[in-house]
Parts: sequence; C-alpha cells; structure tokens
Amino acid sequence: MLTLDFLCPLPNGLHARPAWALKEQCSAWRSDIRFINHRLNSHADAKSSLALVSTGTLFNDSCSLEIYGPDEEQARRALESWLDKDFIDSDSELPAAAAPQSHPLPRSLSRLHPHILPGTILASGIGFGTITLWRSDSLERYRAIPASPEDMTRLEHSLAELADSLNQQLRLLDGESKTILSAHLSLIQDDEFASNIRRLMRDQKQGLAAAIIDNMEAICAKLLASSSDYLRERASDIRDISERLLHITWPAYRNQDMLRLTQPTLLVAEDLTPSQFLGLDLTQLKGMVLEKTGRTSHTLILARASSIPVLSGFSVTELSALEHRQAVLDGQCGVLVPEPDDAVMGYYRLARELADKRVERQTRDAALTALSRDGHRLEIAANIGSALEAPGAFESGAEGIGLFRSEMLYMDRQAAPDEQEQFEAYQQVLLAAGDKPVIFRTMDIGGDKQLNYLNIPQEENPFLGYRAVRIYPEFAGLFRTQLRAILRAGAQGNAQLMIPMVHSLDQILWVKSQLREVKAELQAEGLRYANSLPLGIMVEVPSVCYIIDHFCDEVDFFSIGSNDMTQYLYAVDRNNPRVSPLYNPITPSFLRMLSQIVTVAHRHGKWVGICGELGGESRYLPLMLGLGLDELSMSGPRIPAIKSLLRQLNSDACRELADKACECRSAEEIETLLREFTPLEEARPLLALENILFTDKPYRKEQIIQLLCGNLAANGRTEHPLELEEDIWQREEIVTTGVGFGVAIPHTKSAWIRHSSISIARLPALTDWQSEMGEVELVIMLTLGEHEGINHVKVFSQLARKLVNKAFRQSLMEARDAQAILDLLNRELVF
Ligand code: PEP
Ligand code: MG
Repeated sequence: MLTLDFLCPLPNGLHARPAWALKEQCSAWRSDIRFINHRLNSHADAKSSLALVSTGTLFNDSCSLEIYGPDEEQARRALESWLDKDFIDSDSELPAAAAPQSHPLPRSLSRLHPHILPGTILASGIGFGTITLWRSDSLERYRAIPASPEDMTRLEHSLAELADSLNQQLRLLDGESKTILSAHLSLIQDDEFASNIRRLMRDQKQGLAAAIIDNMEAICAKLLASSSDYLRERASDIRDISERLLHITWPAYRNQDMLRLTQPTLLVAEDLTPSQFLGLDLTQLKGMVLEKTGRTSHTLILARASSIPVLSGFSVTELSALEHRQAVLDGQCGVLVPEPDDAVMGYYRLARELADKRVERQTRDAALTALSRDGHRLEIAANIGSALEAPGAFESGAEGIGLFRSEMLYMDRQAAPDEQEQFEAYQQVLLAAGDKPVIFRTMDIGGDKQLNYLNIPQEENPFLGYRAVRIYPEFAGLFRTQLRAILRAGAQGNAQLMIPMVHSLDQILWVKSQLREVKAELQAEGLRYANSLPLGIMVEVPSVCYIIDHFCDEVDFFSIGSNDMTQYLYAVDRNNPRVSPLYNPITPSFLRMLSQIVTVAHRHGKWVGICGELGGESRYLPLMLGLGLDELSMSGPRIPAIKSLLRQLNSDACRELADKACECRSAEEIETLLREFTPLEEARPLLALENILFTDKPYRKEQIIQLLCGNLAANGRTEHPLELEEDIWQREEIVTTGVGFGVAIPHTKSAWIRHSSISIARLPALTDWQSEMGEVELVIMLTLGEHEGINHVKVFSQLARKLVNKAFRQSLMEARDAQAILDLLNRELVF
C-alpha cells in the first residue's frame, strides 16, 4: 500500500465539484483508493464523490490517499501530480455575471454605512419586505405514497432516466455548468447514494418515496453539520437530484401549489415560471431575487409590467441565512440591504417618495398623444399578459395594446381555456380599450412557455424547436378555438390579430385559410364576429427580413419581436445569463435590419412596430424614432417616461442620428453617439416655485441633498439625480458650503443637469451641515449646466454678497412660503 499525504488546497473545501473531479481521477485506476481526513479522522472511498463530500474536508486539512492494488505505483505518481497542479482548479468560483448597469451608491446612502450585498439589476425600483425563500417543492406529500413491490425496479428506471436527462443536458453545456451537472450525475451514479435508498427500503420497509427523502435528509444533515461556507451548496446538490428523482418517478405529484404571500415580501428563488409568478399575490410582492433568469425571460417581463424590482447575482443558498429578515431590495443601485437601520430606511423612504413623485408627474402628462417635439407621430402601446392588466396600461397612457400575450391564458392549468373563457377575456380587454386598437397575439407556446397538457416531448433546443405557429397544424383544433374567440370578441372594438414566429409565406397562407374556414363556421352558426380583422405577423426570425415585400402582399402590419430577434440574429440564448453581455439589440447589424424592414414595409404602405423589450428602452427612443418605426409597445409602467421623452425629440435630428448609428462599426460607437446626442428643449427659468421646498421633517445633511436632487428629477430638470448628487458631494468635500448665518450653498457645474436650477430647502430647525460655519436652516443649491460658463461663479458670489446684508437675510428667513422666497430672490438677484 502506498500513501500520498497532502494538505487540502481548496479554499472552499471539498464540495461537490472538486469531489467529483477527485473521484474521476481515482476511478481511472484499478487499485483501491481511500481518502482520509486526519483532522476529523473521517475516511471515504475515493471513488465515491458522495463519500468524499461527506468527509467534511476543509481548506488546509491534513489528508492522505491510501492506494492499494496492481497499479498503485502509477496511480500514486499521477495523483500526486494532479493534486499538486490541477486539484485547486476544480474549486474555481462560478464566473461573475455580466457587469451590472447599476448606479454606484449615492453618498446620501453610502455615508450612512449601510450593510449591502451587491447584485445585478434585472428590473428597477425599490422594494421593502420580508425575505422569503421559494422552495419550489415541499417533498413531504411524497411520503404518503405507499410502498409497492415495484419500488426496486422503479428506482433503477428513475435513476437511469435522470442520468439520461443529465447526460442530455451535459451535451449542451460547457464550463462550470457542465462541471456542476457532471457532479450531480456522479452523485446519482455513486454507489452509496442508490444503495442507501435500497437499504432503507429493504431494512426499514420504507416505500421508495420515503426512502429517497430520508436518504436526502440524512446526507444533508451530515453536510449541514460542517463549518464550511460551502456546505449548503453540497446539500443543495443532494436536494436537487433527490427532488428530480421524485419528480421523474411520480410526475403527477409535482407541486402545483402556489406560495401564499401574507405580508410585504421579497421573494428569493432560483427562477419562477411565468405562471408561478402570476399565481402570487402581486400586492404583497415587493421585489424578487432570481438566481437563474435571463434579461428577457417572461417572468422578468411580467415583473417589469407590475413594477416589481428584480435582482440577480445571488444564489438562493447564499441568501437562505437571511430568510424571514426585513430587507430593502434596491433596483436602482443593484444591492440588497438586509436589516436596514433607521437612517438607511430614511434614505430609502425618501428615495421611493422621490421616485413616486417622478412617476406621478410623468403620468399626469401620459394621457397626451404621443408626438415628438416637431409633431411626428409615434404610437405608444402596451404589452399585457392578462385582461387584468389592461385598465392599468391605459391609465399609464397606452394608446392601444400592441401585444396581448394570449398564451398566458393557457398556462398554469390542466387543460386549455375553452372558447367562452377566451372570448370573455378578449372582450374584457377590448372593453377597457374603447376604440383603441388591441393586438391579440395567438398563442406563443413552446420555448420557455411549455404546457404540460399538450404533451410535447422535451427538446434539446426549445427556442429553436416546436413553438408558436409551428405547432398550430398539429393543434389545429386549439388554434381554431382561439381564432373563433378572437373573431367573436372582435365584433365589438378594435381587435387585430398577430401570429408569432412566422418565417415563411406558406405559414401565413395556412393561417389565412384557417381564418376563412373559421369565419365560414361562425357565419353558418349565425354568430357575430369581426369580418375584417387586420392581420399582422411578429418579425422575430431573421429570415423574414429578406421577404418583407412578399409578406406585404399578405398581411397588414409587422411587429418586431426584438427579444427573440436578438437571440436568433446573433445566436444568443435570451435566457442564458452567461451570454447576456452579447445579448444587445443596439448594434449596427440589428439597426440596419430594422431600417431595412421599415423601409420596405413603408414602401408597401404597411406599418411597423416593436413589441420586444427594446421598444420600452428610453435610452434608445431617439434611434427608434429616427429609424421610422410607427409604433412601440412596452410594459405599461414605462409608457409615461417614454412619452415625456418623445416630446423632447426632434424627428429630423433623430433620423440623422439613426443614419449615423447604422454606419457605426461597433455597439460602443453607437453608445457614444447616443451619449453625445442631446434632445432640444425649451429653456426653463433658473429659479422656479417647484424647486423651493419647505420641509417639516428633520432631515440630515445627506437627505437634504438627496431631496433637492431627487426633486429636480421629479420636475424633469435632470434624468440623473444620483450622478448630480455625486457632483454636489465632490464639491462639498473640497470647500465647505456653509456660508454662515444659518445658510449653506452647495453648488456644482455638472453634465447631469438638463436645466440649470436653483433649489431651496427651508428646514424646520437648525441642522448640522458638518461645516465650521455652523448649523443651517436654509439650503440654497446651485446646479448649473456645463455650458453655463462662469455664470456659476457669478450667481454664487451674488448670493454670498446678498447674504451679508442683514435685511436681505431677515426677509429670506421670515418668508413663510415658497412663493415669498421666489418673489424675494427674483427681486434681489440678477440672473
Ligand atoms: C419578442 O420576442 O420580442 C416578443 C415580444 O415575444 P416574446 O417575448 O413573448 O417571445
Ligand atoms: Mg417572441
């Protein structure tokens, strides 16, 4: 027997992945190999990854391999070199997700020293609530399944099926995901795992389900007793495969139950299906942390539509220690803030108040027709997934429903909705819409929206597979039922019909033949229906762009599904966070494609919209206007901001911008163009009533600056309150802005202010300004645009000079309302 001593080099200890790697190395030899941890005196068969994991080995533990057998010499040499050079690689961290598009913490928050956990923003907003973990399935109900004589064979079948499915998944993966799944595969192929289950059935007379659960719990308990940070990861590996085994063996038992939310909740889950999301009480759902979801997954789209902030970048396991704690989910800075203290809560309350105020102002103007500054019309519509969302969308200013994702009606149930149910849902939307158009997209089933009851076999590439219009011929009955419901509902209101995923002319010709037949049926039955419903297609498969002219002969409109189009144009999975940095529709190729579609469609007198997420991105609105799109459809809450931005844009300038963008050579060049593009705007006075605030709350210095900058954003004077705040603080750190007499004049010349402004906060009491010039009760903040030349200094010194004058000071302090201050300053200062 030969012995190989070593210190465990793995910073995270011997968890599933390195255990699998070590087991693979050892299994290559005929010799028996035992692993010994001398610190814990635990032993394991080194050819069983499960046994290796169970040794509880941590970083720097003293360990040995004992090798005994015919090839022990070679095995020792090879293993020694492997342990030395490669073992540590198996412990590598998962690569970090794409760089978050989050704001750095503003000083008004960072100076309060909050405890933060940085993540990645998937949907913006701020939410407070209790952290709740979504455990997708509680396994207890499986225990009731009685033992059966077939249990032994069932176990073998299920193990084989699970191995099969893991193997299939493995073929599609590489890198870390492959390693993790390989580790799972080796766990189920591990003798100990299956033989423990068999032993429980044989010795304890347990049924298979109970044996699987008990085995899982026993192993997890062992793992959870270790002091390593990574133990939870190992436990969840075991849990994961045990759950999958149960699901495979008793598919009918899979939990359909919904989590019931009874208090304001921040939900933490690996991922949710759209129907699971829709099953939640959204009035209690204040935010979500989703471990494994992509930027345009349907759940995320639904979350944005409901203004629910979402972060990723955490694992469920990582956050499990925070379960039941209060936290803030900050989808502005991309952080989770567990157990905020009063000061931090103060920041967030104010941040939310300011954000609400901003939305409120935009919503006020949302009812106005969507026009650019020079009167160019660009229709702004809403995407909805259920009839319930329609009234809210119209309140936000939607000029129509640009996309009703009808497939949502089909999800989370045991059978498809019948004609009457659909008819009622469609009618409800049309009623809410009045005479505004509603585009019903026929069911887009498949991809990440699967329906169990259709029994479509699992596919390796669901997004490239049997989905949307491709399944209609097989499920023609279902499709015709939907057509009947839409046609009937369309008898009243402005309904339009849209077909998803079309890529060839014969598909639309087939749809039209179905439409003719269904109409004839309705006619024969004497039912009312819409005889001439405008028909359009989603443009989401790139090949369509080359035959738009042919489609123009057959359909009335086009709506670009940028979510799918992006994934198909670049071959980048829309739900895979690992390739999300590549998933960007703002590139020269994508823009040229849009331009080409619009040009050809317009030549044939047809209109073109966008209903993918791109349509609601305010940053790209100038490009969409410039490319000549006729309609943009987006989640309702985005509409007010988009309409208000549209009113500032000049269509000629945007056209020029879009032409230039199409000639760029990279996405970065386009971003630079966009940054340099400043919409024209009407001048606004430096001093205005809306920027003079009398507060009755005892704010700290940090919150006063936050308040004044946020108020400028609420009044449309800046789009970037946090950046503006940072500029104020930078100045604040160089010179003290307390000028004595109870007054402070924080000031900056900043690229982040759209309209130069003077803001004023009259405080309820003297407040610490962290300045040797004493406390303050009046704050006059100057935020001047970069183009202001030396006005900045002039206004500042004029103010400072005036303040030396006692009479002026007195009248300023005695002013009882904003109007009085405004009048006084307008009288005394020259701008
Ligand atoms: C799209 O692909 O852009 C689209 C709107 O459809 P969905 O996101 O539902 O696939
Ligand atoms: Mg799509």
